[in-house]
Amino acid sequence: MEKKELIIFIDSGDTLVDESTEVRDEKGVVLEAGLFPGAGETLQALHKAGYRIALVADGLDASFRNIYRQHGLEDCFEARAISELVGAEKPSPAMFRSAMEQMQLAEKDKRRIVMIGNNLERDIVGANQMGVWSVLAGYSPRYRMEPACPEEEPDFVAENPSRILELVKEIRRRVSSSGIEWEE
Ligand SMILES: [Mg+2]
Repeated sequence: MEKKELIIFIDSGDTLVDESTEVRDEKGVVLEAGLFPGAGETLQALHKAGYRIALVADGLDASFRNIYRQHGLEDCFEARAISELVGAEKPSPAMFRSAMEQMQLAEKDKRRIVMIGNNLERDIVGANQMGVWSVLAGYSPRYRMEPACPEEEPDFVAENPSRILELVKEIRRRVSSSGIEWEE
């Protein structure tokens, strides 16, 4: 299938994974966790539609291996920028650059990347500082959802996981209509 020009970076905790369901071992590794209703289906639908997807997440590598293996979703991710491995946490540009490097994306590709996450200070500020699109996963009951400064203002807010699909299509439409020819 032809790959979509819009590239998706997505957070894990309280964006896909319901953090209240996490079961951790004594070292803090998440052994298993539940996803928000519709989150797994959304991720799979994006993957099947031909979007290239990177997991951009703060935490331990083993945690994310366990969770996405549990749900059979590991194959959805072409790249994984995990803070334990990168040595920095969002909003550090190192996290975003790691995903870009793994996907062989250059500066000029930033305008066709969208970061989706629940955390204003990490995901949205990080995306805005990088100059990529930002979508706030606005359905987590555990995090602040009101931007406190202009850098925390997302381009779009997804009120539930399924809404991400529509917003991705909308951003893709805007990127496509900008008239840039993408080099593959
Ligand atoms: Mg999160």
